[in-house]
Amino acid sequence: MDKMTFVLFGGTGDLANRKIYPALFNLFIEQKMPSSFSIIGLGRREMKASDFQASVEKSILTFSRNKPKNKFELDAFLNTIRYSKLDAANPEDYQQLLKVVKEREEALGLPENRLFYLSVSPAFFDIIAMNIKESGLGTTNGWKRLVIEKPFGHDLQSARELNRKLSNAFQEEEIYRIDHYLGKPMVRNLEALESANPVLQALWNNQYIANVQITASETVGVEKRAGYYDTAGAIRDMFQNHMLQLLMMTAMQTPKKLEAEEIRKQKIKVLEALRPLRKEDVSKQIVRGQYAAGVVDNQLVKGYKEEPGVPADSKTDTFIAARLWVDHPDWQGVPFFIRTGKKMQEKSTRIVVEFKNNGNDLYGSTDPNLLVIEINPNESVTFHLNSKNPVNSKMESINLDYTSNQEDVPDGYELLIYDAIRGDSSFFAHWNEVELAWKWVQPVLEAFEEDIISLELYEAGKNGPESAYRLLEENGFTWLLDK
Ligand code: NAD
Repeated sequence: MDKMTFVLFGGTGDLANRKIYPALFNLFIEQKMPSSFSIIGLGRREMKASDFQASVEKSILTFSRNKPKNKFELDAFLNTIRYSKLDAANPEDYQQLLKVVKEREEALGLPENRLFYLSVSPAFFDIIAMNIKESGLGTTNGWKRLVIEKPFGHDLQSARELNRKLSNAFQEEEIYRIDHYLGKPMVRNLEALESANPVLQALWNNQYIANVQITASETVGVEKRAGYYDTAGAIRDMFQNHMLQLLMMTAMQTPKKLEAEEIRKQKIKVLEALRPLRKEDVSKQIVRGQYAAGVVDNQLVKGYKEEPGVPADSKTDTFIAARLWVDHPDWQGVPFFIRTGKKMQEKSTRIVVEFKNNGNDLYGSTDPNLLVIEINPNESVTFHLNSKNPVNSKMESINLDYTSNQEDVPDGYELLIYDAIRGDSSFFAHWNEVELAWKWVQPVLEAFEEDIISLELYEAGKNGPESAYRLLEENGFTWLLDK
């Protein structure tokens, strides 16, 4: 693995402390970091390197999956870290950063391989990318990479604008757009499940699959993020990125090779085949919901509009359900149902594939076979089959299941940062994916904006508005496995 420098913008922020330093530390102790590397954290205040290292130590001791075995191990990691003050808009700060980067490269004998991780508000993405270029930080003898967090744009136009600006400083293959759902081990496992099992591969089409249901439900509300969430809603916060990524990972064809280019090509094909939605038809395929007061986990909770920081007349969606069609010969006629929302009954991200009951009725009515992939908070794969009870000879549903050992599962950020350091972009969103996803979503945004589709209230603690069930009933299905 190439020796390199990891430059962390927003190095004093919440994400850096909760996820990024612990991930780097875990990679370090599992010997998944290069043999020599430098980490430079950035924040807006002046700070001594030792104080900064002490704050990183605290984040590791609090949040790391693996705790340091001894002081030596922790110190060895902390010694790789330096701090530099940086205001995104101040060109002089980038010169100072360049000085620190070069000093460390010389001291450690590092080639000029530089990874810039932007753990800051997206409002700074373009100005930081521009300053990386203009300061000379991006002019290297080695490679350079840009890792950015979501959200990528607010709609199709702003996403295109942002991409245009970023591409002045970085090539597409140098940009790693994080969708942290692609860091979840069970999501990464989807393609393998479909491709490495001839049984599933044979059944993975419209001849055998009746419908696919993808759910990401939360029991929490907007917490302290109302300022951001009220401008985004479930459609931008979850649907345009994470939910469509889950759809792509489920519906993609087997890649010819396990390489980023090939995997992303197959995913893009799914989005290209998504039947476009016209603004006028949005209300037929989408359910737009917002939570009202209710009971979650035996607690009386407020409605969305009563949450601190939310305008009393907010029309922001906290719930989306959608029916999508993939116009590919393999998926013709198979509805993909997606739903995601806050303050729902259960915290769960899962994919349920319902198979057709093609067979005869020799055994009367039997349950449909299901393949259930639990992604979060549990990670499991379950196959629901029908079997004859040996005692009473009646047919019953049995489950073949596998649950992964939670303790050993690395955090998604660990997997994603490891990939970015190695230069493997398989599980990062390519610009074409992001653009096609915004394209599909754009008429929905407009229908919301123009109120062409009504906002339906749902009681907190329920699984969204009643219409979310009607959407499936229209095709003869129901949401499966709801509590
Ligand atoms: P935060 O507010 O805790 O931290 C922001 C960081 O940005 C701080 O280090 C701050 O010093 C820096 N910063 C602010 N203004 C700056 C400026 N003018 N110039 C240079 N640096 C500046 O935010 P966070 O929660 O760490 O989130 C960072 C990014 O990650 C955001 O884009 C957020 O949307 C995204 N994100 C966060 C999470 C999460 O769990 N926290 C999850 C997914 C995505």
